[in-house]
Amino acid sequence: MTRPFNFSPGPATLPPEVLQQAADEMLDWQGCGMSVMEMSHRGPEFLSILTQARDAVRELLSVPPEFQILFMQGGGLAENAIVPMNLLGATRADQAVNFVLTGSWSQKSYKEAQRYGAVHVAASNQASQQTTLPPPSEWALSPQAAYVHICSNETIDGVEFQELPDLLSLGCDAPLVVDISSHMASRPIDWARVGLAFGGAQKNVGTAGVTLVFVHESLLGYALPICPSAFNLQTVAQNASMYNTPPTYAIYIAGLVFKWLNQQTHNGLVGLAAVEARNIEKAQLLYDCIDHTPFYENKVDPSCRSRMNVPFFLRDARLNDHFLAEAKAAGLLQLKGHKSVGGMRASLYNAMPVAGVQALVNHMQDFAQRHG
Ligand SMILES: *Cc1c(COP(=O)(O)O)cnc(C)c1O
Repeated sequence: MTRPFNFSPGPATLPPEVLQQAADEMLDWQGCGMSVMEMSHRGPEFLSILTQARDAVRELLSVPPEFQILFMQGGGLAENAIVPMNLLGATRADQAVNFVLTGSWSQKSYKEAQRYGAVHVAASNQASQQTTLPPPSEWALSPQAAYVHICSNETIDGVEFQELPDLLSLGCDAPLVVDISSHMASRPIDWARVGLAFGGAQKNVGTAGVTLVFVHESLLGYALPICPSAFNLQTVAQNASMYNTPPTYAIYIAGLVFKWLNQQTHNGLVGLAAVEARNIEKAQLLYDCIDHTPFYENKVDPSCRSRMNVPFFLRDARLNDHFLAEAKAAGLLQLKGHKSVGGMRASLYNAMPVAGVQALVNHMQDFAQRHG
């Protein structure tokens, strides 16, 4: 069976090997007579699934031992409230949360945080209409900010930090909070620069329903009294993500994806290095096509183009529907751009093979030739 290539921004394409294993194990997980959906979250079967998932993601992303890995619910959006509720109880001289606004998702985080504390915009890319990233050396950081929030990959606008900022070198000793929802496990993370990172699994590492939170131990224990217990990071950590029933099936799928990612090879590389190399190759293939075909356009500055989410426009927007219909007929699904941006968007998450991007590029070149 050949499946079409799915460029959805999320929930998104998954590795066929993972879907096949889940199908094989659907009625009876490893001979226990139960589906993963049917087992107690406190039983030995699920505990082994949870432990394996946690170990696999720690290995994949080289997460240092001083970081807790939490499996939560509520998605990236809930974290926009969960993070301030958990960090704003710490006493710092200047309690404003500093935001770097680089697109739709950091804007959303900024709005939500205002419900819990003072906020300050340290930098924004609004002047360039979200086509650049403000260089960290120009950020107006509060030296004692409660924390600094960035979205390291803006899913809708298609801008991505190629390197995380080193706040200490910028004279700011606040923890860095990073929304990694849409490029989690697509590249390494420099944990020395991070206080907390979060993201839903459904973009790049699994299905909707589980949110991963990586939090440095030193940030636990500062929740505001209004923080719900089930969203108190210290409580969740102390209970190893089992304070309440975790999203068991979503954790199982994410665990299979982490295992699959750890096993990837590409050009002699293994694991995350292989995954990153493949992601670079895929992004290059598509951006090259866009840049070299006058029929198409991507407006993001090449220095900060996302490897994961590639928005692009047909110069003649009247051909959009036709482009999408022909793409679908050619087995290329979910390429329509976000409604706030228009045009097209191709999401090239980890499970998208190079062959899928090649098929897209072939379609784009063929379409341009026939309509250019
Ligand atoms: C999708 C997305 C979110 C929202 O995630 P939900 O799981 O829908 O809450 C937040 N941030 C970024 C960068 C995203 O791509």
